[in-house]
Amino acid sequence: MKRDYYTILGVKRDADESEIKKAYRRLAMQHHPDRVAPGEKEGAEEKFKEITEAYEVLRDPERRATYDRYGEAGLKRGAGSGGGGFTPFDLSEALNIFMRDFGGLGGFDAFFGGAERARRERQHGQDLKVTLKLSLAEVASGTSKKVKVRTLERCTACGGTGAAPGSKATTCATCAGTGEVRRAARSMFGQFVSVSPCPSCAGEGTVIQQPCPKCQGDGRVRAEKELEINVPAGVADHHYLTMRGHGVPGPRNGPAGDLIAVLDIAEDPRFDDLIYDLPVSFTQAALGAEVQIPTPYGAATLEIQPGTQTGAVYRLRGKGLPRVGEGGRGDLHVRVHVWTPLKLTAEQRALLEQLAKIESKPPAEGHTGKKFWEQLRQAFGR
Ligand SMILES: [Zn+2]
Ligand SMILES: [Zn+2]
Repeated sequence: MKRDYYTILGVKRDADESEIKKAYRRLAMQHHPDRVAPGEKEGAEEKFKEITEAYEVLRDPERRATYDRYGEAGLKRGAGSGGGGFTPFDLSEALNIFMRDFGGLGGFDAFFGGAERARRERQHGQDLKVTLKLSLAEVASGTSKKVKVRTLERCTACGGTGAAPGSKATTCATCAGTGEVRRAARSMFGQFVSVSPCPSCAGEGTVIQQPCPKCQGDGRVRAEKELEINVPAGVADHHYLTMRGHGVPGPRNGPAGDLIAVLDIAEDPRFDDLIYDLPVSFTQAALGAEVQIPTPYGAATLEIQPGTQTGAVYRLRGKGLPRVGEGGRGDLHVRVHVWTPLKLTAEQRALLEQLAKIESKPPAEGHTGKKFWEQLRQAFGR
């Protein structure tokens, strides 16, 4: 199938540069290999490379124009853009492009002020990743969980500034507080100005002469904290929740990273993709019965119709898991199995022997009513 860069990024063909950046940023946050559950890494890497490739072409007006006219083939031939051909990225190239334009995961918010501001933005704290173990019932109803994490918190001795009490951070002399150094350089393409973070102050614009003795100038100290995380109803396995600004605080009162809670949902042995296997006795199947079915929302009553066969599937509407994003709940399918007793008491045996004399023979094959698959298909509405 032909890939389309606009489709990959989910933008319109006339999207402007900022829309393209925004779309890429959103997808990159979702598929960044460092942000997904371990089992999803491989798929995420592929996706990450793909979106980065699309972004790298569409962000560049010249390449984009080439792509619009000639498609991917035009890029591969190197048409239009300085003769440099275009080959698919490997993962590290893709990650580098992401770093180059967005400063990595930590410095993410800085982007919206533009690259210029990003450089001068205070250093963000790291993202904090926790795993939340949840039961199916908790997923169904939503819950609130407390977790203990090792993190850093603001140093109280210096108020997070990193400067020793009584002293102050001073404006960096190298960059005059701008946090960056500009250098004019000459190359075979002519003169250009290179801008890089100031080496004296690491881009912060200020330097600390007397570091705070408690935090050694970092502005943060180690801490163990208890966090409360609200889990909305209907989150599915391997999804995660991101709580902006609830991660590790940045050094010297820099903004905090995000808290990322990876959800680990325990399998419930009673449910197999919300198909519940219900054993019924021969008499319940023959005469009909009212039975209790466990659901993620508590027990529900199910009416077994007289003459129910093994393999019959009943549907309990709205008793399945909540549908993520769509609202409402799925269904719980109850699959009936007629259970044959392993041991009989003398009385049971006598009664069954009596029944055997008068019961009707099962019909020939093909007349046993609807086959299991057919019933299942009907139950699922396919
Ligand atoms: Zn301190
Ligand atoms: Zn400086």
